[in-house]
Amino acid sequence: MAYCPNCGESVRDDQDVCLACGTDLKEPKKVVVEDGSQIGWGILGFFIPLVGLILFLIWRDTKPAASKASGVGALIGFILNIIVLSAL
Ligand SMILES: [Zn+2]
Repeated sequence: MAYCPNCGESVRDDQDVCLACGTDLKEPKKVVVEDGSQIGWGILGFFIPLVGLILFLIWRDTKPAASKASGVGALIGFILNIIVLSAL
């Protein structure tokens, strides 16, 4: 027994389409396995904020963990740059 990912109705495993809402149950799920720590992307984003920002944008949908790591690194890098520049 499986459940429709859209409406939660119980469906048979051999069913192609949910009878309740018509969702295609055979559609391959886009699962990206992000193994290991994403700290490297954070460090990269920290030292090269522009690259971190670009990676954050292009990975937002496909690699959320790496995207977040590079985005946070870029953000911290940006902030530190501003602090350093304003202190000079
Ligand atoms: Zn359904």
